[in-house]
Amino acid sequence: MIRPKKIIILNLVYKIRWVDKAIQIGSEAQGWCDFENQLIVINKEATDQVVAEVFLHEINHALLAALDLMEINEVDHEQIVSRISTGFCTIWKQNPSVFKWWVNLMK
Ligand SMILES: [Zn+2]
Repeated sequence: MIRPKKIIILNLVYKIRWVDKAIQIGSEAQGWCDFENQLIVINKEATDQVVAEVFLHEINHALLAALDLMEINEVDHEQIVSRISTGFCTIWKQNPSVFKWWVNLMK
């Protein structure tokens, strides 16, 4: 499957840059979201499961920013994004047929 190169998040086009581990993303992170430059960066060498969760995680950063729901302090924002992403990944993974149905409602 070809990796997406961009994603539209509430009308904002984010470029997605797939980097290899060598270009470490700083700290231990497998990805990051740069709101100012509308850029999402993801470690393409991570396992599929990690990529799936990181992808959702970075999208949630962009979504909360677009909704103007950035927290007063950054820790809270990170916590919200992490928990929603993990929760949603789990729900989606455990209910693939439900989401096949759901995605069709959007067409
Ligand atoms: Zn994060």
